[in-house]
Amino acid sequence: MAELSSQITQCTKCPLHRSRKNVVVGEGSGRLGVMIVGEAPGSREDLEGRPFVGDAGKLLTEALASLGIYRSDVYITNVVKCRPPNNRPPTSGEIAACLPHLLTQISLLKPRRIIALGLTSGKTLLKLVGVSAGRLREVRGKCFSGRLAGVVAEVCISYHPAAVLRNPHLAGEFLRDLENFFKGLI
Ligand code: SF4
Repeated sequence: MAELSSQITQCTKCPLHRSRKNVVVGEGSGRLGVMIVGEAPGSREDLEGRPFVGDAGKLLTEALASLGIYRSDVYITNVVKCRPPNNRPPTSGEIAACLPHLLTQISLLKPRRIIALGLTSGKTLLKLVGVSAGRLREVRGKCFSGRLAGVVAEVCISYHPAAVLRNPHLAGEFLRDLENFFKGLI
């Protein structure tokens, strides 16, 4: 993983490398066999080089803590590892360029469950297990089994915490999703 991190931090495979301050590779032990995958780093993450450390990250950290889970018990990363300018969604080309990094992380960590937060992450990961998702509401709260990067895992979908910040009425569903996704693992 250390060697992979070093490779990713030097990556220039897509235009996002030009505007980044730091590459956000990911962090956590993955001790519980869970990876959490968001869309892309935001401004705070870009500054610190760590995933989910802004307001959305605080919400995620608190939601995990309410279930008795430390951030370090899981592995947290994003579909793309460099911040898109002005926090725009990553393009399909950027996602395709960066996906091999995520697949290598999955092959090394061998998670039992991968929790995809938000539609970009959900669509990307579900495609890998042969499920097409048009809208988040079609798949949110559900898990789909499949093989990704040679690893048999479940891909589970919920809201991105940034969406929960914008729409606080989603907080209950978000927390229930996480609770269900960690069943049998804690
Ligand atoms: S977003 Fe991914 S593919 Fe693009 S430069 Fe960063 S690490 Fe490389």
